[in-house]
This record gives sequence, structure tokens and C-alpha cells, in this order.
Amino acid sequence: MEDDIRELYQEVILDHGKNPRNFRHPEDATCEANGNNPLCGDRLTVYLKLNGENLIEDAAFEGRGCAISVASASMMTDIVRGKTASAAESLFDIFHKMCMGEDTGKTPDEFTDDLDKLTVLSGVKQFPMRVKCATLAWHTMNAAVHHEESTSTE
Ligand code: ZN
Repeated sequence: MEDDIRELYQEVILDHGKNPRNFRHPEDATCEANGNNPLCGDRLTVYLKLNGENLIEDAAFEGRGCAISVASASMMTDIVRGKTASAAESLFDIFHKMCMGEDTGKTPDEFTDDLDKLTVLSGVKQFPMRVKCATLAWHTMNAAVHHEESTSTE
């Protein structure tokens, strides 16, 4: 591995990639979506359990992909649990900008801890191909919230 690539695969990413949190299919999920990143071969299904107030009571995922995509899904599912769907989307917006190397503007104080955790993934901004890996789980979460791309076994 090149040194700069190695830098991207920090220990926390390798840990989440090898031992993903929330890697399961909750029976009581209220929405789900499939995410596909053909460039890398990452395929994820994100499951959310939203209550009547659009609060994310549970978040989980299944699928396969590279270490970055799996680590990102692992971290995403941890972070969005207990947040409202709109708070999760706001966080995605900021995280996406971090990954693109764009100015995130004002960071809402409520997200400080979450953004500290996500900073480790923002190293992908030096590797444009990897941005899609890092954001796939978030795009899929977004699709699930909006009941897009729901899974069909037909
Ligand atoms: Zn990938």
C-alpha cells in the first residue's frame, strides 16, 4: 500500500470494517433501501425503524463492500440512532461536504461529537473514488427515509 492510502485506512476504519456494528436485519424495520456503488462493488441495505415522530429508533445494515464503505455504514448506523430523520439528513449534508473537501459552514453544536467521529472518514477527500464508498451508507439511509429504492424480492 502507498503511504498516503495507508493513512486513509486508520485503525478506527479497519476496526469498523472488520467488526461492523449493527450488522443485522431488524425484523421491525419500518423502511429500508439498497445502496449500490458499482465503481467499487459496494452493495448495502440500510434498515431503519422510525417512530411516529420520525425519530430513528433503530438503524442497521447488511451487505458487502470495501473497508471504507462498511466502516462508514457501521459508524452511520451508530450515529443516527436516537436522532430525528431530519437531524440525520443535516448531519449527512455536513459529512458529505467534509468528504468533498468543501467548507461545511457553521457546524451545529449538537453534532460536534458525531463530526469528531466522522472526521476519520473525511480523509477520502484526497481520493475522489473513495468518496462514494464513504457516503454510500448515508445516501442509502436518505433513500430509506424517503421510502425510495425499497427492496423487492420479486
Ligand atoms: Zn468501496
